[in-house]
Amino acid sequence: MTAYERTHQGWTAPTGLPGTLGLTPRFEEVIAGLQQALNTAGAVPSPGPVWYPPVVPQALLERAEYAESFPHLLGTVHALAEGTDRAEGPSSSGVALAPAACYSVYPSFADRELTAPAQVDVAGYCYRHEATTELGRFRTFRMREFVRVGDPETTLDWRDEWIARGEALFSRLGVKVSVQSATDPFFGPGGRFMRASQLEQSLKYEFVAKVSDADEGTAIASANYHKDHLGARFGIGYAGRGTAHSACTAFGLERVALALVHAHGDDRANWPSLTEEVI
Ligand code: ATP
Ligand code: ZN
Ligand code: MG
Repeated sequence: MTAYERTHQGWTAPTGLPGTLGLTPRFEEVIAGLQQALNTAGAVPSPGPVWYPPVVPQALLERAEYAESFPHLLGTVHALAEGTDRAEGPSSSGVALAPAACYSVYPSFADRELTAPAQVDVAGYCYRHEATTELGRFRTFRMREFVRVGDPETTLDWRDEWIARGEALFSRLGVKVSVQSATDPFFGPGGRFMRASQLEQSLKYEFVAKVSDADEGTAIASANYHKDHLGARFGIGYAGRGTAHSACTAFGLERVALALVHAHGDDRANWPSLTEEVI
């Protein structure tokens, strides 16, 4: 039985489109439990995430310079404008599919100065035009993200604190993870430089776990420090100290659920409680 077939045993349903899966009520119950566990995983309890739509203005991603690093992952929406001849084909609607949940947040802080650090809890469906479709590498998936915008020191501390909180959460959930310094899949000739500089500056850490027997390790979550990149792009200042810094901690909900199924098996009776804190 392949990993894909195994997960079809009551958890998922095939769709005919590689890189996508139908998810059963059983699977969604796990995601709901995980969402609740994440509500209490941070330093301050959260009532839950703000859900953003799966689409963003293309102009937002341009401001974030997303396509300069990841043009190969971006999906855009094309449509046939009213009155257009069908033969002309669809044209750009100015809308893109969100590649991560946190991009929707930065416009709410744009072109102003923060007087105190800001923290938000967000979620959204994401799309990435991935080159491969192994189990866990979906074209569309949900991301829950905790985002912080503030001064350089406490924002980096916040990111590092989340590494420890993530390890504690996965340990409580019985998912073995290794925390690894990582890079993003940068595109093009500048890619090698960006990879090297990201590693050298320890900007990205991934929580890597197995989602199937054959899997050598999949990033089920990541903790990222953007320095002042997004603050500069979005014109966010911090308390008279120049450009704000930002960081985000992102959980891939389907990947964490798959890691839980892999770790504990098909029978939920053998699973630890997702929501109860161990006292
Ligand atoms: P990978 O290294 O596997 O390509 P990434 O480093 O690009 O992932 P991030 O940009 O850090 O991923 O996204 C945050 C989280 O979103 C990841 O840790 C993962 O759990 C989830 N995620 C990213 N891409 C996918 C995908 N194609 N399918 C499912 N989940 C994903
Ligand atoms: Zn993010
Ligand atoms: Mg990665």
